[in-house]
Amino acid sequence: MNTALFLSPHLDDVAFSAGGTLAQLADVGWRTVLCTLLTESVRSPQGFALACQTDKGIPPEVDYMALRRAEDQRAAAIFGVTTVLHLPYPEAPHRGYESPAALFAGVRPDDPIRPVLAAEIRRVADELRPDLVFACQGLGRHTDHLQVIGALLDARLDAPVYWYRDTPYAIREPQARPDERLPTGLHEIAVALDEATLARKAAACRAYESQLGFQFGGAAQVLPKLAAFHRAEAARFGREGWAEALLMGEDVDGYNLAGGLKPAAGTTKPAFSGLGDVSPLSAGFVSQSSGFSPSKGWHGA
Ligand SMILES: [Zn+2]
Repeated sequence: MNTALFLSPHLDDVAFSAGGTLAQLADVGWRTVLCTLLTESVRSPQGFALACQTDKGIPPEVDYMALRRAEDQRAAAIFGVTTVLHLPYPEAPHRGYESPAALFAGVRPDDPIRPVLAAEIRRVADELRPDLVFACQGLGRHTDHLQVIGALLDARLDAPVYWYRDTPYAIREPQARPDERLPTGLHEIAVALDEATLARKAAACRAYESQLGFQFGGAAQVLPKLAAFHRAEAARFGREGWAEALLMGEDVDGYNLAGGLKPAAGTTKPAFSGLGDVSPLSAGFVSQSSGFSPSKGWHGA
């Protein structure tokens, strides 16, 4: 069985950025693992860290990260994710970043998280043996996204990495450039989304209720904003319809997502054949238990 490991800095990044690709891999029988790295609950947050939840209308006594992990589980169910992993590491406001501006002012020299995340990514990959890894490009330059990129590079995985465009940063900052530490020689591909997949992505993204006002201007804006963005992404490739764009290295045999998502062994080849061809993906869904045994202290299943 083919395995795709989707690395998400925060509880929502993969869904917003690569949810359509994730859904289609799940549909063609891949084992999909949605691994969010920074999901630790923090007792009695103070100052800026507390404001990050209260300014979204969430009272101080609520376990903000538990609420968001539950949102992630709901989104994962809509995507058809096989395994959800919530790694117990703290977001930047709990690591010494004390203002909104500090989150986008580069990595603090005293931020210890990168080697910790590198070791965890290595451990997860050793256990899951992914065929493909998905990670962020660092558009928007949020320090947590930059630390995940550094950690993934340090982890030196064997599997090829597809780099997704951090969204909605890619919507708000169309000129944003990928992190300069990404490997050289990458090229961009587009994964077509049909209308049903686009709607399913939007539905899954709406599960992250606590983030929607901040990220999209409200739940009602999610589908129209994603539809406009993914239409513009397809248009960049000279195509109609909707697409998610990914950066990748040299074509890896069988994994060229733009040329058709590879079905898992024993399943029917999907009708999907790339950008602009929006045939249904009904064949090939395989339900599979994960076989992954999370270590002590990990949330999710
Ligand atoms: Zn994020």
